[in-house]
Amino acid sequence: MKQTHRPPAAILLAAVIAVAPGCRKTPPLASGIDVAGMDTSVAPGDDFNAYANGGWIKATPIPADKPSYGLFEKLADDTRKRVQTLVQEAAQAGPVGGEDARKIADFYASFMDEAAIEGKGIAPLKPQFDQIAAIANRHDLARLLGGRLRADVDALNNTNFQTSNLFGVWVTQGLADPSHSFPYLLQGGLGMPDRDYYLSAAAHMVDLRKQYQAHVAAMLKLAGFDQPAARAARVFALETKMAAAHATRVESEDVHGVVSWKREELASKAPGLDWPALLGAAGLQDAPVFMIWHAKAIPGLSALTASEPLDAWKDWLVFHTVDDAGGLLPKAFVDERFSFYGKALTGVPELRPRWQRGVDSTNVALGEIVGRLYAKRYFPPETKAKVQAMVGDLVKAFGKRIDALTWMSPETRAKAKQKLETLKVGVGYPDRWRDYAGLEIVKGDALGNARRAGLFEYRSQLAKLHQPVDRDEWWMTPQTVNAVNLPLQNALNSPAAILQAPYFDANADAAHNYGSMGAIIGHEISHSFDDQGSLFDAAGRLANWWTKEDFDHFRAAGEALAAQFDAYRPFPDLAVNGHQTLSENIADVAGLLASYDAYRLSLGGKPDIVKDGLSGDRRFFVSFAQSWRSRIRDEALRAEIATDGHAPEQYRADTVRNLDAWYDAFPVEPAQKLYLAPKDRVRVW
Ligand SMILES: [Zn+2]
Repeated sequence: MKQTHRPPAAILLAAVIAVAPGCRKTPPLASGIDVAGMDTSVAPGDDFNAYANGGWIKATPIPADKPSYGLFEKLADDTRKRVQTLVQEAAQAGPVGGEDARKIADFYASFMDEAAIEGKGIAPLKPQFDQIAAIANRHDLARLLGGRLRADVDALNNTNFQTSNLFGVWVTQGLADPSHSFPYLLQGGLGMPDRDYYLSAAAHMVDLRKQYQAHVAAMLKLAGFDQPAARAARVFALETKMAAAHATRVESEDVHGVVSWKREELASKAPGLDWPALLGAAGLQDAPVFMIWHAKAIPGLSALTASEPLDAWKDWLVFHTVDDAGGLLPKAFVDERFSFYGKALTGVPELRPRWQRGVDSTNVALGEIVGRLYAKRYFPPETKAKVQAMVGDLVKAFGKRIDALTWMSPETRAKAKQKLETLKVGVGYPDRWRDYAGLEIVKGDALGNARRAGLFEYRSQLAKLHQPVDRDEWWMTPQTVNAVNLPLQNALNSPAAILQAPYFDANADAAHNYGSMGAIIGHEISHSFDDQGSLFDAAGRLANWWTKEDFDHFRAAGEALAAQFDAYRPFPDLAVNGHQTLSENIADVAGLLASYDAYRLSLGGKPDIVKDGLSGDRRFFVSFAQSWRSRIRDEALRAEIATDGHAPEQYRADTVRNLDAWYDAFPVEPAQKLYLAPKDRVRVW
């Protein structure tokens, strides 16, 4: 989830008090507004994003190695440099740094050792090629498919639905049983991002299909397989059948579509696959009950393991073995992968520098070792305490909004308040750190290290099946520039890396900090009450806690917002999908409303002063829009619209049009493009 948080008043207040005792003259807080980045020739009511960001958009090219660029990407770049420094320091420390430090140093060094990777060539994949070649029947096939499963999807927290394995596995508490963890099975198997890429008649998609087939053939050829074009055609035909069985992205968001099947029922409800063989190889043979996220797709995929030729499956397995390892193979493989997944799919002309890819890979494999070092260096306990106080303010403001809702019945209101009061907000980093003692990292074995790390993560997730549910579990690392709501845990994670300037700038004033970081924290809190979050009660149980009238009102308000976003057309042939992005759009509006309230409260009844020619309210809204400033390549924008739960940034910035306070702050006329009559402004919370 792409959200950035702004600093709340409590932090600012604390910062001011901290310097006051010395009686030194403190410089006045800056407005935090990038005035040069605005374009005041645009009427705010016509295009608020252009008004707030037009100057920056004109002056800022998209770096050649990125699909998009904005504040978010800039901070991610800064954070990568910090992590690189931490890893290099770990390497310099040598044995005195300890075993954890050695692991991140060796993992990173192995990734960077291109000579060793070139020297090995395709040899590290040979044992897997041999296993695939030895598949003689459907039982063997199921064993191989099962052995590849990993904990690589996350349906409700990070909303990641994509895996090139036959199924994705996610381990968390049950939808109806918050006291036990279950394995969730999700659809998988595609090399392109979504079923639309295989099935849509749009010319753009038809073209990408040709390029994808060419990519499959190129990877097989590089790996030394004969008849690469014929094999690629078989792989593509099989994936197209998988895509036809797949649920759409919108269907994937429907928690009511999830079913629970006993292990013995899998073979009858999803016939075709040798389930005992698959589960045994996946380490899931003892799980009594499975949560089936895609109740139609999983039987469809299972049937294909019986109906499609073994040779097609073997080609598919070989291709994904090569493709998944691609980033850790010699340069020719890396470049070929980039030419499809980078250039063709997202329009990026240049591959990122290797050190950046190495840092990202280290963050994935050893995330909490890096995270612990990161938090220690960059997120001191004082900052954590200040952020916690700020979160408290936002929660209070949200509670007041719930109290003031005229349409909500007392019963629903009591449940909503209970959910808010028991919300757990994780700030910066987890209370307990993952133990990586069981993970072997070998210097010089880049591919082996990544493989062992993936398996280690999978086994760590499976171990949760035999442990009490941990409501404090984190789903993002501290060095992640982002934040996430965890519906099943009734909790939030706000990693250390997003709790920094410019999202939270201690030298800027309240209007700025509430407009950016405050709105982001408000966004995450409100996910607990959006179209998905409202389906889960205070304990994280999928349970309807609304009266029918209240829920009807809530749904109707959501429909209005969906229609508003359906009308945005970044391309003549492609509109934003208002339902696919509904949760995020509700969270944006609600978060902005709560943060605006908290901002006004922070002023203690006094009017804010004018800075940089802008009133406090104007700065609040401009800061919000500036926190979403972004440029994106056309191809990447198309991919985002097809697969992302978030609307494109420019429309997120324009959501200010739903707040009455925006109309009070700016001269917006009914004839202007963003104007909404008061009855059409969506206010869910
Ligand atoms: Zn979100």
